[in-house]
Amino acid sequence: DNFDKWTAVDRYFTNLLVPSDPVLDSVLAANAAAGLPPIDVSPNQGKLLHLLARVQGARNVLEIGTLGGYSTIWLARALPQDGRVVTLEADLKHAEVARANIQRAGVADIVELRTGLAVDTLAQLEAEGRGPFDLIFIDADKPSNPEYFAWALKLSRQGSLIIGDNVVRGGAVLDEASDDPSVQGVRRFCELIAAEPRVSATAIQTVGSKGYDGFSIALVTDER
Ligand code: SAM
Repeated sequence: DNFDKWTAVDRYFTNLLVPSDPVLDSVLAANAAAGLPPIDVSPNQGKLLHLLARVQGARNVLEIGTLGGYSTIWLARALPQDGRVVTLEADLKHAEVARANIQRAGVADIVELRTGLAVDTLAQLEAEGRGPFDLIFIDADKPSNPEYFAWALKLSRQGSLIIGDNVVRGGAVLDEASDDPSVQGVRRFCELIAAEPRVSATAIQTVGSKGYDGFSIALVTDER
């Protein structure tokens, strides 16, 4: 069926354009060995984040939702030596696996992993005067996406990119009566983006090895 075809095409492009990398392969193996859920971005999506960070000339990246650090490492590899990825993770086991992966990937000097609920660590970052971040990747608990968008705006500047993962959810985003808090979270998130005069945005559906989903991308266009 179509899904098999989409997965095969995903594999074709990944093999061609995102050749396997021993470090990233070992990250996925370590995540699986530790029993982490395989909900990292796919290799070609990781490469997309990496390319967007490079196009952006990003030096400071904020990631909400680390898991085992797979996307973190893709982003860290896009930055100059003195660049920084601040990545936020609530689950201590995920954080422990991520720290080992980040170390093994040789980007421990670039990555700062903060544990705790993101609503708390985001408030900490603001209190410390951190930011603005050049690129913000929102990929944690989807019910909190509306709050994460507000924080992303606070911690950004004109020209920052705010990327949200998993906004399609197999098409469930269409269901305005959904009782799934993740669906309601991404719907509210997209509505807030739509209503926000300081950003210009779009959303793209994706198919392939991680199923049917998609991401939103918003460019901060105004000074606040
Ligand atoms: N960005 C990762 C990647 O692509 O490799 C995947 C992140 S995974 C989809 C979401 C992560 O967010 C999980 O590790 C989960 O423990 C974490 N998380 C969930 N709720 C959170 C919260 N309130 N604060 C911080 N992290 C949270």
